[in-house]
Amino acid sequence: MRIGCHLSVAKGFAAAVKVAPTLGANAFQYFTKNPRGFRNAKPLDRLDADRGRALMQELDIIAIGHTPYLINLATPDDGLYQTSIQALVQDLAIAEARGTYGVVVHCGKPKDEPRAWGIERMQHALRTVLEESHSPGVLILVENTAGQGSEIGSTFDELMAIVDPFSPEEVGICFDTQHAFAAGILTADNPGAFEGFSNPDFMGRLKAIHLNDSKVPFGAHKDRHELIGRGYLGGAGIAAIVNDPRLRTIPFYLETPVEQERQYAEEIAAVKALLA
Ligand SMILES: [Zn+2]
Ligand SMILES: [Zn+2]
Repeated sequence: MRIGCHLSVAKGFAAAVKVAPTLGANAFQYFTKNPRGFRNAKPLDRLDADRGRALMQELDIIAIGHTPYLINLATPDDGLYQTSIQALVQDLAIAEARGTYGVVVHCGKPKDEPRAWGIERMQHALRTVLEESHSPGVLILVENTAGQGSEIGSTFDELMAIVDPFSPEEVGICFDTQHAFAAGILTADNPGAFEGFSNPDFMGRLKAIHLNDSKVPFGAHKDRHELIGRGYLGGAGIAAIVNDPRLRTIPFYLETPVEQERQYAEEIAAVKALLA
C-alpha cells in the first residue's frame, strides 16, 4: 500500500523525502509554492531537487505537488486567470525537476458566472497549460471540491466533464474523501457505492486519493478536514475506503489537521490499523 501525508518543504525538498519514512510514509505531498500566495516564489533549487529525486528512488518513495490555493482556473477575473495558468505551468516544471509524478489543482470558482461557463473556462486553462508546459512526465491532477460557494467539480458529472477532453496521460484525478463526503457524493456507511469507483474512465484517471475525515456532516458543502476516525466519515468509513480492492493500487495522502508534522506517524498508523 502507498500511503503518506502532506509534508513541509520549508527545509528543502530532499529534507522532506528523508522525513517521510520516519513517519511510516512511502508517499507524500508538498506545496509547490507558498500555499497562500504565488508571488515571491523562491526559485527552484536544482541541487536540492536532484538530491531529493535520487533519495526517493533509493528509499522507494513517490510524491506529488499541490498548487497554491489562490490558483483559480475558472475565475472570471482575467488577471487572476492568467496568473493561475502561469503558476500551474511553473508548478509542473518544479514537479518534473523533483521527479514527482503529478501536481494537484482544485477545480475553480466561476463566482457569479454559470457553472457550465466555469467548466469551459477551466478546460481552456488546462489546454493552455498543456500547450505551454514542457513537462510531459507530470500529470495535472484535478481535485474534486466540497462545492463551497461557486466551486465547480463537486459532483461526479462535473468532475468528469472537466477532464473529459484530455488524455488520461495528461490530466488525471485526485479524489478527496472529505470533499466528496461534504459534497454529498460519498457516504460514510457505504463509500464503495460512489459512482466513480465503478466507472472505468474515472478509475483510469484516479492517481491519488486525499484520505481525510470530515469535521462537517454529509452534504455540508464545506472544506473542513478532520483527523482519521474523529470525524463524520469515521473509522468505519475510512476502513471501507482503504480496504476497497478497486483502490488497492491508488496512493493515499493524508491532509488531516495535525498539530505538528510528527503526529502524521500516528495518523498513518491509525489508517494501517484499519487494514483488513
Ligand atoms: Zn485535498
Ligand atoms: Zn480540502
